[in-house]
Amino acid sequence: MTRPILPGAIIGVLGSGQLGRMFAMSARRMGYRVHTFSPETDTPTGQIADVEITAPYDDLDAVRRFARDVDVTTFEFENIPSQTIEVVSEHVAVRPGGVVLHTTQHRVREKKFLASVGLPVTPFHPVNSLAELREGLRILGTPAVLKTAGWGYDGKGQTKIASIAEAEKAFHSLNGEEAVLEKFIDFEREISVIAARGVDGVMVDYGVTENVHRQHILDTSVAPASVPERVAKSAAEMARSILEALDVVGVLCVEFFLARDGELYINELAPRPHNSGHMTIDACVTSQFEQQLRAVCGLPLGSTELLRPAAMANLLGDLWGAGEPDWQACAAYTNVKIHLYGKHLPHKGRKMGHLTAHAATSDEALQLVCAARDALTPPQSIK
Ligand code: AMP
Repeated sequence: MTRPILPGAIIGVLGSGQLGRMFAMSARRMGYRVHTFSPETDTPTGQIADVEITAPYDDLDAVRRFARDVDVTTFEFENIPSQTIEVVSEHVAVRPGGVVLHTTQHRVREKKFLASVGLPVTPFHPVNSLAELREGLRILGTPAVLKTAGWGYDGKGQTKIASIAEAEKAFHSLNGEEAVLEKFIDFEREISVIAARGVDGVMVDYGVTENVHRQHILDTSVAPASVPERVAKSAAEMARSILEALDVVGVLCVEFFLARDGELYINELAPRPHNSGHMTIDACVTSQFEQQLRAVCGLPLGSTELLRPAAMANLLGDLWGAGEPDWQACAAYTNVKIHLYGKHLPHKGRKMGHLTAHAATSDEALQLVCAARDALTPPQSIK
């Protein structure tokens, strides 16, 4: 039996973005201390953590010093080099384990794993050469989506290919990186399931969230999703079977396409709390961040009950295009919660924060968060 890690202990977080920030907030609320490690300084996580360590992930001496000081380590960002995780795990448990990270940080490995356990993954074809890309286009048909195998998120490293004539240009845009070609799914909607598994193998899930992306970046999420019971049940079962197959201790998000014919296809996995679960902070008994903490510390998992239908709207850097957004006007929506991540530079497409609300229905909650977000940029401020 693994001994639980109790309040007062130090949790190490590899990565320093907003996911680490919200995790650190949960951890500190429950009396834990947090050390964060990343190459940056004054980061979203570092602003909340007790200790912020700034060093490259391949500075293995710095990694060792970090690992010696903490009681357990988790990560908030999948693209941590495997060697860094190995060095940390020589000193302290890393949860979820390195195998989970290794599988999910590479699209081809992830898809092969999903197919190997019999789960429905978007039809794909690995691409290492122009010939393989052409072959993939012949097999999968067009349109198709070409994605770099590693380091991709929020649509980065993705190209939609409309016809075989575009193959060469798309291949050169990869700059020699390994890639995967996916069939383009004409989906009815996109959904996700966040689930967690404890040290003892007990699992919980948050049910299905419905997500809308704009330019490949998550724009809004609502829960519960309006999908048939059969779809919700099957998506949750798949999430649980992935947690088991990968022996995950922690939180995992599964993103799906629900095709027009009713079939579910897994788009991708994230072995950590996910943007589509941010509403759990304000709308559930236990947030996805507290759940991650409970799992990595070996505590019993918390209730995932959704207290009321809820919605989340992301705040991207684009909202700063005409200067500082109108926070007064947004705050006048007294039922809407404002979450900001403490980032200094509001680049276009950069996730700066989000809004959440709950209401009698998820539609009403969605209208509320969208109206509050619109209030941030009144039409007269857009030049
Ligand atoms: P990803 O980074 O792979 O999650 O892709 C970001 C978004 O791009 C997805 O949430 C979809 O909206 C869109 N997308 C990616 N791959 C596909 C696909 N194979 N078919 C249709 N839409 C896709």
